[in-house]
Amino acid sequence: MDDFEKIIRDTYNDICNGKNIGNVADYIPELSCVDPDQLGVHIHTIEGNSYGYGDYQTKFSVQSIAKVLSLSLAYQIEGDAIWKRVGVEPSGNPYNSLVQLEDDEGIPRNPLINAGAIVVCDILVSRLEDPKADFLDFIQDCCGARNIGYNNKVADSEKSVGYRNVALCNYIKSFGNIENEPDEVLDFYFTMCSLEMTCEELTSVFMFLVSSKYRSQQNNKILNETKANRINAIMQVCGFYDESGEFSFKVGLPGKSGVGGGIIAVHPEKYTIAVWSPRLNKKGNSYRGMKFLEQFTSATDSSIF
Ligand code: GLU
Repeated sequence: MDDFEKIIRDTYNDICNGKNIGNVADYIPELSCVDPDQLGVHIHTIEGNSYGYGDYQTKFSVQSIAKVLSLSLAYQIEGDAIWKRVGVEPSGNPYNSLVQLEDDEGIPRNPLINAGAIVVCDILVSRLEDPKADFLDFIQDCCGARNIGYNNKVADSEKSVGYRNVALCNYIKSFGNIENEPDEVLDFYFTMCSLEMTCEELTSVFMFLVSSKYRSQQNNKILNETKANRINAIMQVCGFYDESGEFSFKVGLPGKSGVGGGIIAVHPEKYTIAVWSPRLNKKGNSYRGMKFLEQFTSATDSSIF
């Protein structure tokens, strides 16, 4: 047993016995059907150890966490040309905001807000033969698992109310930064967000963002070191909506949250860790997920700062 195993178990028990406040995301009707009191945690270390507690093997809607994976695939294909279409600055605005696009002439501030993720989807629609299937293949190649898929009910549910994302896509297109038809781009965007994974699968998939030493041992050629570092840098400054500074301050790891209540965090030299608890705080991040990770990195002294 290493330190991580005891600390993750103790932290899980503490968080389980503590307060659980906030609401599940219900602006996507299908997400409101989820039992809000589930809690899963899982860690995957560079030594190959892996520990999970609670609902860590239950699939959930990863939502915006998928944006890191679509960005990684687009970066792998497109290289640095991608940064002509999307920036790398924190937006300081809500994830679905339209306002900055006018000043920025249709170049979204970063790829992890909706506007930026929609541009990334446009790139993938242009470059991939079958974007939905090819994106799944990419994820499955990252972890070797074959049973990762989309939830069509969630995708349709979001599509039925996704007016703001439709507006974002059309608005960006008016500036010439969307090549394809908005319907096609949005169909891929909503499907990508409906991706379902367990905490255990997430920690395994995201191992391509830990140390190059580990990646070369595993023959993991998803992204080279510079590119992996840059994805981590973007998560560090843009991964938690309007609470990215708070997450950086309290947890000290690159990470990404989603409105399904999941959070993935990456220690670039040591481990990946995933937490899932569907009740969200006012900024849209998992209430218990934030607390768990703050407590975990403090107890293991593993903030990267
Ligand atoms: N599909 C969601 C949306 O576009 C993703 C939101 C999120 O997880 O941040 O609103």
